[in-house]
Amino acid sequence: MKEQLELLWELQKIDLELKSIEEEKDRYPKEMKKLDEKQRVERERIEKEKEKIESLEKIRRQREGQLSLEQEKVKRAEGRMSEVKTNKEYQALLSEIDTLRETNSRMEEEILQVMDEIDELKKDLSKREKDAGLTLEKIEAERKKLQEKMAHDEKVLDGQMERREVLSKQIESKLVKLYNTLKEKRQGVGVVGVKDETCQGCFVNVPPQMFIEVQKNNALIRCPNCNRILYWEGNGKKK
Ligand SMILES: [Zn+2]
Repeated sequence: MKEQLELLWELQKIDLELKSIEEEKDRYPKEMKKLDEKQRVERERIEKEKEKIESLEKIRRQREGQLSLEQEKVKRAEGRMSEVKTNKEYQALLSEIDTLRETNSRMEEEILQVMDEIDELKKDLSKREKDAGLTLEKIEAERKKLQEKMAHDEKVLDGQMERREVLSKQIESKLVKLYNTLKEKRQGVGVVGVKDETCQGCFVNVPPQMFIEVQKNNALIRCPNCNRILYWEGNGKKK
């Protein structure tokens, strides 16, 4: 019986490991999705900045087009100077030219402002692109690590499944059946250790006489409270 219990205990440890790997496996797709989302946000932010710069460039081109039309007007007005006959006409033309020039210099001012804004944004963008590059690299590294972990888990899973098969065959089928039933009903734990006279599955005390018997690991003893098979791991040994 002792050997059987030891095998069962080992089986339990494998099953717990398998369970935690399965839980991890459920987590991976979510982690991947999170990384995708991070990447998307980062790229979108850069795209938005680029769009803003493009729209400003468009404004700049429009203003420059308008300005050159206005400059044409000034030239034409200047060309009319030679045709002027009276002083009154001369004064009128001068003031027209002045007004046009004022408008033009306002437009030039505006264009310069837009250009400054574009320069500023471009500077920000190149810094942001650098930062984003680093962030994206980090995300890529995380993704790779996750993939490696997934592959590793898959390997461990396969190995442990095989070991489980072998172990199961070494244990009396009646015992395996009991263990499987208990495991299903009791959150994956069918065999459980006892520590300080307490069942480590339900944390209820076991009777002193039973505790003495459990320490021998010689008989199939089940917790009076949770029904799990009790196992003695020895004193001071790690879990
Ligand atoms: Zn119990």
